[in-house]
Amino acid sequence: MSAIAKARSASRSEDPPASGPAASSATEPSPAPKERTPDKGRAASGVPFLLDFFPLEGPEQTRVARFYERLKEGHLSTTRCRRCGSLHWPPRVACPRCHAEELDWTDLPSTGRIYAFSAVLAGAPLGMESDVPFAVGLVDLDGVPLRVFGRIDGRPWDELRVGGAVRVESFNLPDGRVFYRFRSVD
Ligand SMILES: [Zn+2]
Repeated sequence: MSAIAKARSASRSEDPPASGPAASSATEPSPAPKERTPDKGRAASGVPFLLDFFPLEGPEQTRVARFYERLKEGHLSTTRCRRCGSLHWPPRVACPRCHAEELDWTDLPSTGRIYAFSAVLAGAPLGMESDVPFAVGLVDLDGVPLRVFGRIDGRPWDELRVGGAVRVESFNLPDGRVFYRFRSVD
């Protein structure tokens, strides 16, 4: 047992029984707050509306609604400029290269390779706290010059590897919205 572990062990055994706020031991890590914002004001996904960056997916709300429609059908898609041919990510309403607004929708490959990844071990975004630890990373989609960021599921983060094969999958949120993530398929 290390000196630190011994010291912790000794200090723990001498701790008085918890009897109030002052008894909250300085030697113990602070527990996660048990009470968070009440459900009032939260989207069905559990995330507060004002912190929900993607609340609106319908055609009456966004000009890239087609992206979500295709995702519901299981396809990752994006826009391509009809004038200069640029393939965009994320999908656009105007070409960032030539500013044309004449864009076509195109499905993207559903497979790719991990370019880089990292693990979320703490401080997860709201609504994802109970998923920790999980992996996020950049994926080079097969056959197109696009590097797409997303969550990578399918195996523990410390078993992922750069160059590992993934496929795109869509997943449904409890409130009817949809988003994509990657799944390791090595
Ligand atoms: Zn263009």
